[in-house]
Amino acid sequence: MSGKLYGYHRKVADINLSLMNYRVIELPEYLYKAFIGGSGLGVALLIKYVSIHTDPYGSDNTIIYLVGPLTGTLAASTARFAVVSKSPLTNLLAEGTAGGRFGPLLKKSGFDALIIRGKADKPIFILAYDGYIEFKDASSIWGLDTFEATDIIKRDLGLNDIEAAVIGPAGENLVRYASIVCEKGRLVGRLGQGAVMGSKNLKAVVVGGERNPEVFDDDKLRNKYVELVKRLSKTYIPLRVYGTQASVASLLEFSDTPVKNWSLGMWEEGQEKFNWDNVNKTYRIRRRACPSCPIACEGVMEHDEEGRVKAPEYETMAVFGPMLLIDDLKAIADFNILVNKLGLDSISTGSAIAFAMEAYEKGYIDESLGIIRWGSIDDVRRLILDIAYRRGKLAYLLGEGVSRAANLLGAEELAVTVKGLEVPMHDPRAAFSSALMYATQPRGGSHTDFTYLNELRGLTIPEIGVDRQLDRFTTVDKADLVIKMQNLSALADSLVFCKFGLLGGITVSDLIDFIRYVTGWDINSKWIHEVGSRLFNLKRLFNIRLGVSNKDDKLPKKLLTPLKEGSAKDMVPDLNKMLKEYYKLRKWDERGYPTREAIDDILYDYLPDDYKILIK
Ligand code: SF4
Repeated sequence: MSGKLYGYHRKVADINLSLMNYRVIELPEYLYKAFIGGSGLGVALLIKYVSIHTDPYGSDNTIIYLVGPLTGTLAASTARFAVVSKSPLTNLLAEGTAGGRFGPLLKKSGFDALIIRGKADKPIFILAYDGYIEFKDASSIWGLDTFEATDIIKRDLGLNDIEAAVIGPAGENLVRYASIVCEKGRLVGRLGQGAVMGSKNLKAVVVGGERNPEVFDDDKLRNKYVELVKRLSKTYIPLRVYGTQASVASLLEFSDTPVKNWSLGMWEEGQEKFNWDNVNKTYRIRRRACPSCPIACEGVMEHDEEGRVKAPEYETMAVFGPMLLIDDLKAIADFNILVNKLGLDSISTGSAIAFAMEAYEKGYIDESLGIIRWGSIDDVRRLILDIAYRRGKLAYLLGEGVSRAANLLGAEELAVTVKGLEVPMHDPRAAFSSALMYATQPRGGSHTDFTYLNELRGLTIPEIGVDRQLDRFTTVDKADLVIKMQNLSALADSLVFCKFGLLGGITVSDLIDFIRYVTGWDINSKWIHEVGSRLFNLKRLFNIRLGVSNKDDKLPKKLLTPLKEGSAKDMVPDLNKMLKEYYKLRKWDERGYPTREAIDDILYDYLPDDYKILIK
């Protein structure tokens, strides 16, 4: 390994909102080499600040914005950043990443990370720019939606080339799954980091500047990028053509897309509306790319009121479409814009509404709480607004998340969550690896390890040993698949690399080249697995310290109940069998705790004593 640390500033801003001050700290080199950046470094830092006693909405919770060594360089598909905290939705790790301009501009601000602690006594936003931090009054934009607030912040600051990560009314009103919104459509979502910002009176984090750290070999990096762009220009890449939007129709065929709150395995009446012609002309009038990405997977649409905006992605289409029995693409686009403006996570919002529709149908919710009918566009629009503003009992309840709402209504059998997080739009009955992925993912019910793409689409990644497509309805080799994909994913979220890149023709070998040219590290695919495993175990230990054990590695009843129709009819994954194999391969004990053998010396030496005593 090279003696100098390339790709990093080695500077982190430690910001205290209670005192309205900050200090710049220099992290030791070994921390970067051990935990890389992004969510990995974020959790390594968070360990020092957050415990089981930390109230996610208390001033003692900490939220950390991070970039990685590749962010802001010519390494393809790396315009991305991460945000970690303790989640108000799950009381466990909140981690998330988002693409677009914010990541590279955070890098240019001169900081590898912004550690934000305490609570401001009035609404503020933070400006991180060219090596300094400023606290700005946000009283006049508190209450505004994310689109309005973004426009005003940018206009009033009058600085060139800045980007803002903003919360909307949902974050201010502490909806437990409130998101952080960049560029009016790129979100850090799922686990309520937007609400953590709201609890701190922090409306936005704004970044920019001109400081980029030196890379190890600029010429090789540039040549590699040019060669990759050339190669991809000659390659047929379905993700580039179809985005994620074509997947609703095809994944409904697999019964992977859930229908009617996970109750049905097909939706003949609605499916036709999601055909490619309709989707293409409504959602993809042109394509858009994140900086430094030759794939350009995002769809841009023309919206009647907002003009050209980012079109909904697969997850949003599925959750506001088949999950609610709505087949109107324009209405789904309206919901997408609405949740982005309000700063809500689309998967959790749509899932909460689907849960409410079924609970209403089955009598758990009576009319005094509210009327919410399958397929009603008006009911959904009203409920989205009410959730964000916490108006009315039902919406308030749904803003607490599906698990809490189900407990209070006695409707646990209708809730589809894992570790308190609403499960995304991939049914484990249609691809058994998803069952294991959900049960063991540090975020809870999260799909971002993409294991099901091996079973459903034949995705292989030979460099990490995922070299053949597995049968979707068996448990054989699923533990091995899930571990390999999770380790790769943990590393990607730390670099920070967009995992869609792997679906768009960028190989792990390309990624290794990029890491080498940026950092100068002499690495190979074995390093990917070793570091990925370290980062994954770190996150597991973080959650264990917050109370997680084997008893939480489970799926809700609905996902273990056979579907009565569709191509996954009568199929139910044997989760316990896969978990047993998974624990064995991960070298976790019967409690679901990593053993000393599972943890390398680098991680073990870093862990505080209260973590070490957990490890046998
Ligand atoms: S693959 Fe898509 S989401 Fe990922 S960096 Fe490229 S344009 Fe952005």
